[in-house]
Amino acid sequence: MTQERSNNPQEEERFSLRPIEEGARFPFSCHPGVSCFNECCKQIDVLLTPFDVVRMKNVLGIQSDEFMVKYAEMQKFKGTELPLLKLKMNEGEKCVFLGEEGCTIYENRPVVCRNYPTGVATKKPDEEAGKNSFFIIEEKMCKGHFEKDQWTVHEYKENQGATELDKQNHTWLEIVARLKSMELKNDRDQKMNIFIMVSYDLDSFRSFVFNSSFLNRFDIKDEVVSQIKSDDEELLKFGFEWLKFALFAEGPIHPRK
Ligand code: SF4
Ligand code: SF4
Repeated sequence: MTQERSNNPQEEERFSLRPIEEGARFPFSCHPGVSCFNECCKQIDVLLTPFDVVRMKNVLGIQSDEFMVKYAEMQKFKGTELPLLKLKMNEGEKCVFLGEEGCTIYENRPVVCRNYPTGVATKKPDEEAGKNSFFIIEEKMCKGHFEKDQWTVHEYKENQGATELDKQNHTWLEIVARLKSMELKNDRDQKMNIFIMVSYDLDSFRSFVFNSSFLNRFDIKDEVVSQIKSDDEELLKFGFEWLKFALFAEGPIHPRK
């Protein structure tokens, strides 16, 4: 899941992706003193993960469906029918959370904003787990690459608070990778609606679990039911397992016998 520049036919000339070994260092620092401050928060596709949405809607004190309408929009992943949520751009193609002083949700900014300028090559679902292939996104307008601080990719992610979020989103990213490569047939719309509800509209998923026949139909332990009732992050993790059942007929969630 990466940031992508939008609406620019010459975008490939504006940046390059430089491969970097796992333990190698790269120079980078971003702070209000750089001449390009905030430039990277314009004309950009910031794809959101489920944990991003939960953190942001909770800090804004709104429900997930309201967040989706006010602050985000759907786009289909290139060449597929897979709907992914991204941040809205305001007038002037500025991120909806960009203020005069910079990011107005900095403590809860999405994981792709935290990881920038690092990236990891997406593995195909059938590729074996092994060494990751990292790269550095070098954009011409970004002056952070000329600063003195030096990082390995892992040090940088840890410093930006991305490491834990990457772990939380891991199962979901695996589901996304499988969906991207799957040919969805006549049940496509139903599957995509389930994917959208669990991934981005957690308050509706909670209502689906607790205000329908769901708990009568599925064999869920009492302690799990009490955990997911009040804890958004636990509900989301449970949702990922439910997605595995609903999309691929696998995983630990089973109908009652
Ligand atoms: S363009 Fe680079 S240095 Fe400038 S604000 Fe964005 S990340 Fe920071
Ligand atoms: S969420 Fe914050 S850091 Fe990310 S693009 Fe928007 S303003 Fe920039």
